[in-house]
Amino acid sequence: MNAAALDRSVAERLAVVRERIARAGGVDVSVLAVTKLFSIDHCWSAHRAGCAAVGENYAQEVVAKFASRLEPGAAPLPFEVHFIGQLQTNKVRQLASLIDVYESVDRLSLVSELSKRAPGAAVLIQAACLHEPGKGGCPIEDVPALVDAARTAGLAVRGLMTVGPTTGGPDAARAGFRVVRALVDALELDICSMGMTDDLEVAVQEGSTQVRIGSALFGERPVSAASVR
Ligand SMILES: *Cc1c(COP(=O)(O)O)cnc(C)c1O
Repeated sequence: MNAAALDRSVAERLAVVRERIARAGGVDVSVLAVTKLFSIDHCWSAHRAGCAAVGENYAQEVVAKFASRLEPGAAPLPFEVHFIGQLQTNKVRQLASLIDVYESVDRLSLVSELSKRAPGAAVLIQAACLHEPGKGGCPIEDVPALVDAARTAGLAVRGLMTVGPTTGGPDAARAGFRVVRALVDALELDICSMGMTDDLEVAVQEGSTQVRIGSALFGERPVSAASVR
C-alpha cells in the first residue's frame, strides 16, 4: 500500500473506531494506535489521522523502529510512544530514551529499575482485572501499594491499565473493567487505559479514558516483526 492509500485507510478506520466509541457513550476517550508488528509508516499514518500516541509491545522492535530519535539533531517525534507489552527489567535501559509512557508497570522490581534508568518517567500501573496467567498485571489488591511505591520512587503515576480476558466474549471483561475504573477513581488518577478492538464498547461503557486499538485500525497483524522491517 502506498503512503496516501495507507493514510486514507487508517483515517477511515479511525473514524469507524471513534463512531463505535461514541455509540458506546464515550466522551473524551483517546485512541492509542497499537502499532506492534506494523511499520513506522503505520505510526505516521495514525499520527496524521489524529492519534496522539502509538503503543508498542516489544523492546527490540521499539529500538529498531525509533532508534533514529537518538541521532544527534533528530527532530522530536510529533506523537508519543507508549510501551504496553510485558516488560523485562533488563530491557528498560535500552528503552529509556525512546518511550514516553510505560503502561505496563506491574511490579516493584520494574518500579525500581525505571526510577534508576528513566527517572521521573510517566507510568500507568497495570492491574490484573482477572486471574488469567501470562498477561502480566499486578493483583488488584496490591495496586494501591504499588502506586504508592512508584510515587515514592519519583515516577509520575498517571493512571491504571488493564487487559481484558481473551476468552468468554466482550462481556467477560465487564466486571474486571468496573473494578479497575473504581480503583482509578479511589486513587484519584486520571487515566484508565482499557479496551481493545474486540472489547472497546464494554470498556467505554465501564469508564475507559483510553482504548488501545490495533487490528481495527491497521487490519490483521503480521505474524512477525521481520516482515515489516
Ligand atoms: C496488541 C494489544 C492491543 C491491541 O489489540 P487489538 O485487538 O489489535 O486492538 C491492546 N493492548 C495490548 C496490551 C496489546 O498487547
